[in-house]
Amino acid sequence: MSSGKRAVKATSFAWAEAPDIRSVHQALVRAYGVRKRPARRRTPEPLLDVLIRTVLSQNTTDALSERAYRQLRQRFSRWSEVLSATQQEVEGAIRVGGLARVRAQHIRDILQRVADARGVQRVCGHEDLSLEHLQAWSTPDVMQALTQHRGVGQKTAACVVLFGLRRDDVFPVDTHIHRVAQRLGWLGTGVAREDTQAALNEAVPDALKYALHLLLIAHGKRVCRARTPRCAECVLAPLGCRWYATADKVDAADIEGVGDGRRGQMSRKRRRSGGTER
Ligand code: SF4
Repeated sequence: MSSGKRAVKATSFAWAEAPDIRSVHQALVRAYGVRKRPARRRTPEPLLDVLIRTVLSQNTTDALSERAYRQLRQRFSRWSEVLSATQQEVEGAIRVGGLARVRAQHIRDILQRVADARGVQRVCGHEDLSLEHLQAWSTPDVMQALTQHRGVGQKTAACVVLFGLRRDDVFPVDTHIHRVAQRLGWLGTGVAREDTQAALNEAVPDALKYALHLLLIAHGKRVCRARTPRCAECVLAPLGCRWYATADKVDAADIEGVGDGRRGQMSRKRRRSGGTER
């Protein structure tokens, strides 16, 4: 997928001294281990399942979104059944994941559009709604089609391509990756998440996209956390992280999800003396 004028090459970061992508990948592999795609399942998860699962994962924890998805599938074994259910029944099934009213509406809208466009198909041995026709489409066409749905943005669509279609030509950027990328200096502060995704999609080599996506999320959750980045123990600090190197100059409020993130930042004085303030 190409985004033309938004392209940012690995050698033209917003901050010239930002660590290069391959070095970051190698450091994160040393810290968290190799990330490889699991072997292809004999019966791959249907794309519509991947899409709904990803919609339910927005703005909540992995554990809660997984519970919401499981309860939804226990209540409705076929997607076509969701369309004949009431809004309240769908909300009840996914309530554990939060934002039930909005998510239920988005899910019903997606399913209705799929039903209007394709009707029910033969999928996994039974009749149901399906997105399997997207397997034959190009990635830009898949992205275009998926983002037509309410509640499906660039990140969600890219996750369906990366995980559902198992293609390496997209780089989904969630809030963790967005934050880490801006702190590293790959993108300027204040750059929107979708623009960050477009830029990194160009800059990250396809061979690294799957692994780096997972590794940066892990790093954002465990070390480069929104409010309290643990720079003292970060494997990316010595590589030239902008946040670490210019701690007194970057405006924290410009970086999405950071808020008063400097509160937990190790001070320059402590950092020079090898302190461990977090
Ligand atoms: S050095 Fe600090 S700000 Fe930079 S990536 Fe590591 S934890 Fe995040």
